[in-house]
Amino acid sequence: MVKQNKKIIMLNEVEAKRILGQAGIPVIDTRLARTKQEAVSLSGEIGFPVVLKIVSPDVVHKSDAGGVKVGLANAAQVRKAYTEIITSIKEKVPGARIEGVSVQKMARPGVEVIIGMTEDDQFGPVIMFGLGGIWVEAIRDVAFRVVPVSARDADEMVHEIKGVAALRGYRGQEPIKISSLTKLITRISRFIEKNPQVKELDINPLIASGDGVVAVDARIVMKP
Ligand code: ADP
Ligand code: MG
Repeated sequence: MVKQNKKIIMLNEVEAKRILGQAGIPVIDTRLARTKQEAVSLSGEIGFPVVLKIVSPDVVHKSDAGGVKVGLANAAQVRKAYTEIITSIKEKVPGARIEGVSVQKMARPGVEVIIGMTEDDQFGPVIMFGLGGIWVEAIRDVAFRVVPVSARDADEMVHEIKGVAALRGYRGQEPIKISSLTKLITRISRFIEKNPQVKELDINPLIASGDGVVAVDARIVMKP
Protein backbone atom coordinates (compact mmCIF):
# COMPACT_ATOMS: atom_id res chain seq x y z
CA MET A 1 0.00 0.00 0.00
CA VAL A 2 1.43 3.36 -0.97
CA LYS A 3 0.47 6.82 0.19
CA GLN A 4 0.54 9.35 -2.59
CA ASN A 5 0.73 13.02 -1.63
CA LYS A 6 -1.23 12.21 1.59
CA LYS A 7 -4.49 12.59 -0.29
CA ILE A 8 -5.15 9.25 -1.92
CA ILE A 9 -4.03 5.71 -1.24
CA MET A 10 -3.41 3.33 -4.11
CA LEU A 11 -3.71 -0.40 -3.49
CA ASN A 12 -1.40 -2.62 -5.50
CA GLU A 13 -2.67 -5.48 -7.68
CA VAL A 14 -2.30 -8.13 -4.98
CA GLU A 15 -4.11 -6.03 -2.32
CA ALA A 16 -6.87 -4.94 -4.72
CA LYS A 17 -7.54 -8.53 -5.77
CA ARG A 18 -7.62 -9.70 -2.14
CA ILE A 19 -10.27 -7.13 -1.25
CA LEU A 20 -12.35 -7.91 -4.34
CA GLY A 21 -12.10 -11.63 -3.61
CA GLN A 22 -13.39 -11.02 -0.07
CA ALA A 23 -16.36 -9.18 -1.62
CA GLY A 24 -17.30 -12.31 -3.59
CA ILE A 25 -15.84 -11.15 -6.90
CA PRO A 26 -13.99 -13.97 -8.68
CA VAL A 27 -10.26 -13.15 -8.94
CA ILE A 28 -7.40 -15.27 -10.21
CA ASP A 29 -5.23 -16.77 -7.44
CA THR A 30 -2.46 -14.15 -7.00
CA ARG A 31 0.48 -13.95 -4.53
CA LEU A 32 3.34 -11.54 -3.96
CA ALA A 33 6.92 -12.78 -4.36
CA ARG A 34 9.77 -10.66 -3.06
CA THR A 35 12.60 -12.79 -4.44
CA LYS A 36 13.17 -14.98 -7.48
CA GLN A 37 13.27 -18.09 -5.30
CA GLU A 38 9.93 -17.13 -3.73
CA ALA A 39 8.44 -16.68 -7.21
CA VAL A 40 9.54 -20.20 -8.11
CA SER A 41 8.10 -21.78 -4.96
CA LEU A 42 4.81 -19.85 -5.24
CA SER A 43 4.50 -20.98 -8.89
CA GLY A 44 4.79 -24.57 -7.73
CA GLU A 45 2.05 -24.02 -5.13
CA ILE A 46 -0.28 -22.26 -7.56
CA GLY A 47 0.37 -24.71 -10.41
CA PHE A 48 1.68 -24.04 -13.92
CA PRO A 49 1.14 -22.26 -16.25
CA VAL A 50 1.59 -18.99 -14.35
CA VAL A 51 1.91 -15.26 -15.07
CA LEU A 52 4.47 -12.92 -13.45
CA LYS A 53 3.92 -9.16 -13.12
CA ILE A 54 5.81 -6.23 -11.65
CA VAL A 55 4.31 -4.78 -8.46
CA SER A 56 5.32 -1.12 -8.21
CA PRO A 57 3.41 2.06 -7.37
CA ASP A 58 5.45 3.75 -10.11
CA VAL A 59 4.41 1.36 -12.89
CA VAL A 60 0.73 1.73 -13.80
CA HIS A 61 0.88 0.23 -17.30
CA LYS A 62 2.80 -2.92 -16.49
CA SER A 63 3.00 -4.52 -19.94
CA ASP A 64 4.16 -1.29 -21.61
CA ALA A 65 7.18 -1.38 -19.28
CA GLY A 66 7.98 -5.06 -19.95
CA GLY A 67 6.49 -5.95 -16.57
CA VAL A 68 4.16 -8.83 -17.57
CA LYS A 69 5.16 -12.36 -18.65
CA VAL A 70 2.37 -14.83 -19.40
CA GLY A 71 2.24 -18.57 -20.06
CA LEU A 72 5.22 -19.61 -17.93
CA ALA A 73 5.29 -23.41 -17.95
CA ASN A 74 8.05 -24.36 -15.51
CA ALA A 75 10.50 -23.14 -12.85
CA ALA A 76 13.21 -22.28 -15.39
CA GLN A 77 10.84 -20.02 -17.32
CA VAL A 78 9.74 -18.36 -14.06
CA ARG A 79 13.36 -17.62 -13.12
CA LYS A 80 14.09 -16.15 -16.54
CA ALA A 81 10.88 -14.07 -16.56
CA TYR A 82 11.63 -12.69 -13.08
CA THR A 83 15.07 -11.47 -14.18
CA GLU A 84 13.70 -10.01 -17.43
CA ILE A 85 10.92 -8.12 -15.62
CA ILE A 86 13.26 -6.54 -13.06
CA THR A 87 15.83 -5.65 -15.75
CA SER A 88 13.20 -4.09 -17.99
CA ILE A 89 11.62 -2.01 -15.19
CA LYS A 90 15.01 -0.68 -14.06
CA GLU A 91 15.73 0.35 -17.64
CA LYS A 92 12.32 1.77 -18.59
CA VAL A 93 11.26 3.32 -15.27
CA PRO A 94 14.50 4.35 -13.55
CA GLY A 95 14.10 4.75 -9.80
CA ALA A 96 10.79 2.83 -9.67
CA ARG A 97 10.02 1.47 -6.20
CA ILE A 98 9.72 -2.30 -6.63
CA GLU A 99 7.52 -4.07 -4.04
CA GLY A 100 7.99 -7.45 -5.69
CA VAL A 101 6.54 -9.56 -8.47
CA SER A 102 3.05 -11.02 -8.44
CA VAL A 103 2.69 -14.70 -9.28
CA GLN A 104 -0.69 -15.79 -10.56
CA LYS A 105 -2.43 -18.58 -12.33
CA MET A 106 -2.85 -18.25 -16.09
CA ALA A 107 -6.59 -17.82 -16.81
CA ARG A 108 -8.37 -20.01 -19.37
CA PRO A 109 -8.57 -18.26 -22.75
CA GLY A 110 -11.68 -16.17 -23.30
CA VAL A 111 -12.98 -12.71 -24.10
CA GLU A 112 -11.41 -9.80 -22.20
CA VAL A 113 -13.89 -7.37 -20.63
CA ILE A 114 -13.37 -4.43 -18.32
CA ILE A 115 -15.32 -2.96 -15.45
CA GLY A 116 -14.50 0.35 -13.85
CA MET A 117 -15.89 2.80 -11.31
CA THR A 118 -15.36 6.54 -11.15
CA GLU A 119 -17.07 9.24 -9.15
CA ASP A 120 -19.14 11.71 -11.10
CA ASP A 121 -19.54 15.17 -9.53
CA GLN A 122 -23.26 15.09 -10.15
CA PHE A 123 -24.28 11.43 -9.94
CA GLY A 124 -21.73 9.98 -7.53
CA PRO A 125 -20.24 6.54 -8.24
CA VAL A 126 -20.77 5.34 -11.83
CA ILE A 127 -19.93 1.86 -13.12
CA MET A 128 -18.57 1.30 -16.62
CA PHE A 129 -18.58 -1.94 -18.59
CA GLY A 130 -17.01 -2.73 -21.96
CA LEU A 131 -14.91 -5.16 -23.95
CA GLY A 132 -11.15 -4.97 -23.36
CA GLY A 133 -8.40 -3.74 -25.66
CA ILE A 134 -9.17 -1.56 -28.67
CA TRP A 135 -12.92 -1.82 -28.05
CA VAL A 136 -12.58 0.52 -25.11
CA GLU A 137 -9.50 2.52 -26.03
CA ALA A 138 -10.26 3.27 -29.69
CA ILE A 139 -13.99 2.78 -30.14
CA ARG A 140 -15.29 3.77 -26.67
CA ASP A 141 -17.84 0.96 -26.90
CA VAL A 142 -18.88 1.15 -23.24
CA ALA A 143 -21.99 1.26 -21.06
CA PHE A 144 -22.43 3.34 -17.89
CA ARG A 145 -24.88 3.09 -14.97
CA VAL A 146 -25.12 4.98 -11.70
CA VAL A 147 -24.68 2.92 -8.49
CA PRO A 148 -26.73 1.04 -7.27
CA VAL A 149 -26.81 -1.15 -10.38
CA SER A 150 -29.64 -3.73 -10.31
CA ALA A 151 -29.51 -7.14 -11.99
CA ARG A 152 -31.68 -5.73 -14.73
CA ASP A 153 -29.42 -2.69 -15.23
CA ALA A 154 -26.42 -5.01 -15.43
CA ASP A 155 -28.12 -7.15 -18.06
CA GLU A 156 -28.92 -4.03 -20.09
CA MET A 157 -25.32 -2.83 -19.82
CA VAL A 158 -23.99 -6.08 -21.23
CA HIS A 159 -26.50 -6.11 -24.09
CA GLU A 160 -26.20 -2.46 -25.07
CA ILE A 161 -22.53 -2.53 -26.09
CA LYS A 162 -21.96 -3.01 -29.82
CA GLY A 163 -19.45 -5.79 -29.20
CA VAL A 164 -22.00 -8.02 -27.44
CA ALA A 165 -21.72 -10.49 -30.35
CA ALA A 166 -18.21 -11.33 -29.15
CA LEU A 167 -19.77 -12.57 -25.90
CA ARG A 168 -22.37 -14.71 -27.60
CA GLY A 169 -19.71 -16.83 -29.31
CA TYR A 170 -18.77 -16.30 -32.92
CA ARG A 171 -16.79 -18.37 -35.46
CA GLY A 172 -17.09 -21.47 -33.35
CA GLN A 173 -15.90 -19.85 -30.11
CA GLU A 174 -17.76 -20.92 -27.02
CA PRO A 175 -20.36 -18.42 -25.78
CA ILE A 176 -19.52 -16.87 -22.45
CA LYS A 177 -21.79 -17.14 -19.44
CA ILE A 178 -23.58 -13.77 -19.53
CA SER A 179 -25.28 -14.49 -16.19
CA SER A 180 -21.92 -14.72 -14.42
CA LEU A 181 -20.98 -11.37 -15.93
CA THR A 182 -24.16 -9.59 -14.81
CA LYS A 183 -23.87 -11.12 -11.33
CA LEU A 184 -20.35 -9.78 -11.12
CA ILE A 185 -21.45 -6.26 -12.13
CA THR A 186 -24.10 -6.20 -9.38
CA ARG A 187 -21.54 -7.48 -6.85
CA ILE A 188 -19.20 -4.65 -7.79
CA SER A 189 -22.04 -2.19 -7.34
CA ARG A 190 -22.73 -3.59 -3.87
CA PHE A 191 -19.02 -3.47 -3.03
CA ILE A 192 -18.95 0.23 -3.98
CA GLU A 193 -22.06 0.97 -1.91
CA LYS A 194 -20.57 -0.72 1.14
CA ASN A 195 -17.17 0.91 0.72
CA PRO A 196 -17.71 4.61 0.09
CA GLN A 197 -14.01 5.22 0.75
CA VAL A 198 -13.22 3.66 -2.65
CA LYS A 199 -12.48 6.51 -5.04
CA GLU A 200 -11.67 4.61 -8.22
CA LEU A 201 -11.78 0.98 -9.29
CA ASP A 202 -10.39 -0.57 -12.45
CA ILE A 203 -10.64 -4.23 -13.34
CA ASN A 204 -8.87 -4.43 -16.69
CA PRO A 205 -9.25 -7.10 -17.79
CA LEU A 206 -11.58 -9.77 -16.57
CA ILE A 207 -11.46 -12.90 -18.70
CA ALA A 208 -14.88 -14.31 -19.62
CA SER A 209 -15.30 -17.84 -20.95
CA GLY A 210 -17.88 -20.61 -20.97
CA ASP A 211 -16.79 -21.34 -17.38
CA GLY A 212 -17.51 -17.89 -15.97
CA VAL A 213 -15.58 -14.69 -15.41
CA VAL A 214 -12.35 -14.03 -13.51
CA ALA A 215 -10.50 -10.76 -12.76
CA VAL A 216 -6.82 -10.93 -13.77
CA ASP A 217 -5.80 -7.28 -13.21
CA ALA A 218 -7.18 -4.80 -10.68
CA ARG A 219 -6.41 -1.37 -9.29
CA ILE A 220 -8.16 0.43 -6.44
CA VAL A 221 -7.67 4.04 -5.34
CA MET A 222 -8.97 4.93 -1.87
CA LYS A 223 -9.90 8.29 -0.46
CA PRO A 224 -7.79 9.48 2.48
P1 ADP B 1 -1.31 -3.96 -17.53
O1 ADP B 1 -2.72 -3.61 -17.80
O2 ADP B 1 -0.77 -3.20 -16.36
O3 ADP B 1 -0.42 -3.84 -18.71
P2 ADP B 1 -2.31 -6.67 -17.02
O4 ADP B 1 -2.21 -7.27 -15.68
O5 ADP B 1 -3.65 -6.20 -17.44
O6 ADP B 1 -1.21 -5.49 -17.10
O7 ADP B 1 -1.75 -7.72 -18.08
C1 ADP B 1 -1.69 -7.44 -19.45
C2 ADP B 1 -2.40 -8.51 -20.25
O8 ADP B 1 -1.84 -9.80 -19.98
C3 ADP B 1 -3.89 -8.65 -19.94
O9 ADP B 1 -4.65 -7.75 -20.68
C4 ADP B 1 -4.15 -10.09 -20.34
O10 ADP B 1 -4.31 -10.19 -21.76
C5 ADP B 1 -2.86 -10.79 -19.98
N1 ADP B 1 -2.96 -11.38 -18.63
C6 ADP B 1 -2.66 -10.77 -17.46
N2 ADP B 1 -2.86 -11.60 -16.41
C7 ADP B 1 -3.30 -12.77 -16.92
C8 ADP B 1 -3.66 -14.02 -16.33
N3 ADP B 1 -3.61 -14.25 -15.01
N4 ADP B 1 -4.09 -15.01 -17.17
C9 ADP B 1 -4.13 -14.81 -18.51
N5 ADP B 1 -3.77 -13.66 -19.11
C10 ADP B 1 -3.36 -12.64 -18.34
MG1 MG C 1 -4.51 -4.32 -17.14
